[in-house]
Amino acid sequence: MDRVRVRFAPSPTGHLHVGGARTVLFNWLFARHHGGTFVLRIEDTDVERSTEASVDAIIDSIKWLGLDWDEGPIVGGRYGPYFQSERLETYREYADRLLSTGHAYPCYCTPEELEEARKAALGRGQSVGYSGRCRHLSPEERRAFEAEGRKPALRFRVDEGETVVRDLIRGEVRFENRFIDDFVILKSDGYPTYNFAAVVDDTLMEISHIIRGDEHLPNTPKQIMIYRALGFDLPKFAHVSMILGPDRTKLSKRHGATSIAQYREDGYMPDALVNYLVLLGWAYDATQQIFSREELIEKFTLEKVSKNPAVFDPDKLLWMNGHYLRATDVKILASLAVEHLARAGLVPAAPDEREMARIEKIVGLLKERMRTVKDVVALGDFFFTEGVSYDAEAFEKFLARDYVPEALREIRRRLGALGEFTAAEVERVLRGYAAEVGRKAGDVIHPVRVAVTGRAASPGLFEVLELLGKDVTCSRLDAVLAKLSTGG
Ligand code: GLU
Repeated sequence: MDRVRVRFAPSPTGHLHVGGARTVLFNWLFARHHGGTFVLRIEDTDVERSTEASVDAIIDSIKWLGLDWDEGPIVGGRYGPYFQSERLETYREYADRLLSTGHAYPCYCTPEELEEARKAALGRGQSVGYSGRCRHLSPEERRAFEAEGRKPALRFRVDEGETVVRDLIRGEVRFENRFIDDFVILKSDGYPTYNFAAVVDDTLMEISHIIRGDEHLPNTPKQIMIYRALGFDLPKFAHVSMILGPDRTKLSKRHGATSIAQYREDGYMPDALVNYLVLLGWAYDATQQIFSREELIEKFTLEKVSKNPAVFDPDKLLWMNGHYLRATDVKILASLAVEHLARAGLVPAAPDEREMARIEKIVGLLKERMRTVKDVVALGDFFFTEGVSYDAEAFEKFLARDYVPEALREIRRRLGALGEFTAAEVERVLRGYAAEVGRKAGDVIHPVRVAVTGRAASPGLFEVLELLGKDVTCSRLDAVLAKLSTGG
């Protein structure tokens, strides 16, 4: 294949969502598979809706997913600038070219006039597109508008006929030009519209393949017209199918979290998301679901991208997250967990080495029970808090029993006397006591668990106590004893 250059070109008007993330991923994989270049370009020409915060949020999410770009913001590159708002002169230059070749013309209609014309057409039951009013203005009429001080927009003159999009995924898609109005390429404020700026940039940045969501398919004939009018070569197009929710309607907020930032906050792992996202429209064969990044780079091709809509299945994502969570080294998991623990106020944002070592141990204990990284908070908060809050039901079931105060008092005494506070020693104390008083081990283990963790379920209690340490364990037992002696 010739030199591969692909791009992701987000409009910074919000977070990176599932669909956009899949587009980044497909472009990134395609570039890496072919040893090509992946460009990040910020399409910030909608001045009202674009924000720097969105640029940061999108970049943050891409990085968090573990994807990188070879040219674009931060890293630069020789085709820059990579923010469209910094390329206005370039667009002006190419717009002038279209103007001088007659492919574009100035349109003096104000938004109010366009709206009025639209309403009138609607009233007459006619098509509501642009009427073509300024298409045939005489030089005098133009001068008259200019004299009024009107600043024109530039419209592209759409010829009759048909425009065919040859798409690597969808095959040939035909568009009749008569359904396409003369569209604006440069607004009266000098900003280009998306269709125009994208063509200029994709050409100047030497983009070879345009891989994007198929909501852009109706834009492609317009872009092809511009390529031709400017005498540019066409890139190859690949429009990736829509993503549907489980109910087979277009994926939206109604279906739950859709932004990558939200998944991150909900405790999903970047590797799990990457693996899940790639399966939204791509399959290697009928069976393989789990792919490492190296494998994806090796195996990803557009031939295996489907033209059928993909269905987003949150349960499968959760399952996949669990898979990655268990397969991930506890050091990496702990570093992901810190973000959630810190947000819950349980640890500092940048724990020191000793704290990190402890977090690793805790995560190691909890790992089997976690489905998301965030679960570390709900399952393990008692490791980090001063005291514990008791689950009422667990308290009633395991602590409000006659033999418990005596048992806890004695166990507290023996644990307090231990020289070495290890899981093995703790276990010896608990089992030893149970045997002495003729009870099952569970009869003492459960009450101790509720006393020190506040809940009925936890990882292996002996390991939990070792990690909590002697002082914390004993003070929590004291607290429960005090509570029991005052009658709850
Ligand atoms: N700025 C456009 C968007 O965010 C880019 C579309 C394209 O890839 O051409 O949808």
